[in-house]
Amino acid sequence: MENGSGEERHSVVTGGAGFLGSHLCDALIRAGQRVTCIDNFETGRSANLRHLRDEPRFTLVRRDLNDQIDGEVPGPVDVVFHLAAPAAPSDYLLDPVATMRIASVGTLNALDLARDRSARFVLASTSEVYGTAGDEPHREDDTGQVNPADGYGAYYESRRFAEALTTAYRSTYNLRTAIARIFNTYGPRMRLDDGRVLSRFIRQVLSGAPLTVPGPGTQTRSLCYVDDAVAGLRALSEGGYPGPVNIGSPDEISVFAIAQEVAEIAGPNAEIVFVEPPPAETHARRPDISLAGQLLDWQPRTTVQTGLATTLAWFQGAGARHA
Ligand code: NAD
Repeated sequence: MENGSGEERHSVVTGGAGFLGSHLCDALIRAGQRVTCIDNFETGRSANLRHLRDEPRFTLVRRDLNDQIDGEVPGPVDVVFHLAAPAAPSDYLLDPVATMRIASVGTLNALDLARDRSARFVLASTSEVYGTAGDEPHREDDTGQVNPADGYGAYYESRRFAEALTTAYRSTYNLRTAIARIFNTYGPRMRLDDGRVLSRFIRQVLSGAPLTVPGPGTQTRSLCYVDDAVAGLRALSEGGYPGPVNIGSPDEISVFAIAQEVAEIAGPNAEIVFVEPPPAETHARRPDISLAGQLLDWQPRTTVQTGLATTLAWFQGAGARHA
């Protein structure tokens, strides 16, 4: 795939060794692009990129993005996709200072790279910026409700800062920026230790344990399959729209229904049991994706049945060794 100057299109993916980033690298390579991944393997895995080892259009730069990046990235750059950040609660709460550093200093360095190469910049932001506001599907003009000092502020405040910094680069340097607010995403290579309910179900199926549904199981999740999320990020990179744009599934599914789907795919021996719910049930966020539909002609296309079957098959097969 060529850019406007007739050269091979070149994207940089920060956090490209992670779950979403590695799928994005795959999609870009499949589209004929040259890809440079910058990752320090803080939460990423080399197994996620092993299949690209002999790919001539793929370059891996093993670097901490909190250090300035420039000479390490070869040639002109068309798009910088900035995904480097701890995403799982188990990671971002482990070292809140590191979480704030990568969202601030790391984002600054990624923005500088995009500015210096006149590239489009796509920030992978998160639904967490909406905080705890309301039960209604979140629209991009919701201002969110967060408490910076409640112990979780390191994550959502730092991501709000990253959005503000991206917006500041746009107004100050005319940088062509875009912000994607990504909601709960799943698929092959997802982290099974990220504390989410689907990850627990997959771990339980793999070990032959019963699926534990916190009672009553009517609480819901909105799950977006990774290929769909990646398609959303790519669509955003190709237009001129600055965002923010929600990228996620608007369809709610109950935790019990997720367990039933997983059990059905896993086979007749899979058992579901109800357990005591945690004292504070996770507040499930759900996107309004009208804007992504209008501006990017984007919506998730993978059914939960297909997505879960593909994911489980991957973990039961070769992927299980790297899980
Ligand atoms: P992940 O943990 O699998 O990937 C993050 C990657 O960033 C890892 O490869 C990690 O090694 C790298 N990284 C972290 N700190 C770094 C640093 N200082 N220098 C270089 N690399 C560094 O997470 P993911 O699920 O793939 O999420 C990717 C992005 O998408 C994150 O910004 C996350 O907030 C956002 N997001 C993900 C989800 C989801 O459901 N997975 C939902 C909302 C937002």
